Amino acid sequence: MADLQQRIQKIEQDIQAACDRTGRNRSEITVVAVTKEVSAVRASAVLDAQIHHLGENRPEGLFGKQEMIKSEAIWHFIGNVQSRKVKEIINRIDYLHSVDRMSLVKEIHKRADHTVDCFIQVNVSGEASKSGIAPIELDSFIEEAAVYNKVRIIGLMTMAPFTHEADEIRIVFRSLRELRDGISAKSMPHAPCTELSMGMSNDFIIAIEEGATHVRIGTALVGAESEGDI
Ligand SMILES: *Cc1c(COP(=O)(O)O)cnc(C)c1O
Repeated sequence: MADLQQRIQKIEQDIQAACDRTGRNRSEITVVAVTKEVSAVRASAVLDAQIHHLGENRPEGLFGKQEMIKSEAIWHFIGNVQSRKVKEIINRIDYLHSVDRMSLVKEIHKRADHTVDCFIQVNVSGEASKSGIAPIELDSFIEEAAVYNKVRIIGLMTMAPFTHEADEIRIVFRSLRELRDGISAKSMPHAPCTELSMGMSNDFIIAIEEGATHVRIGTALVGAESEGDI
């Protein structure tokens, strides 16, 4: 069974190989270790291994980890946010990956005491089970968000469709990149939109080939609590 160091080494090799294939620089890519299913002890081990970006998808998981973990971490919130939870989490995180409706933008603007770096979640695949803005509504959504200036739209986020077909996944990631390029070309002060949050344990290599700047890796990096070995 691989330990944390070995898992990280394997991921780094895969990232570097994807960069080499596509002429990208490793420094463009941030690995967010998704610790939502593991203990604070395991999350601390990730920080000790020099991965400083941690991702959580529930307020309770975020608070629990922040209480237990004493070393510095950069916190990414990657899950759906209920509007009534915004005030509890918004000033405790560095990045929010899951802005998926205007009421959430308004609530963030109201509750944040600083500008929050956000990704707009886009439902590229159109699956009914997925949250996110429809691609066709994205431009007007972002224009409408301009007045809520505590929300800084740094990029777009998506989840791959539920399939093992690499080509289908690739098309979704490529579409997100094209949407990102269209928005960043407008040079809107509130929406620089240079970043792309896409790719998880099973598809981060494709995501990097298609331009991901943030990959959100859970199980392949942090392992599973049931495995015992950190
Ligand atoms: C759980 C989760 C991940 C990580 O998933 P793995 O398959 O374990 O890598 C990434 N992004 C989001 C939004 C998640 O909820």
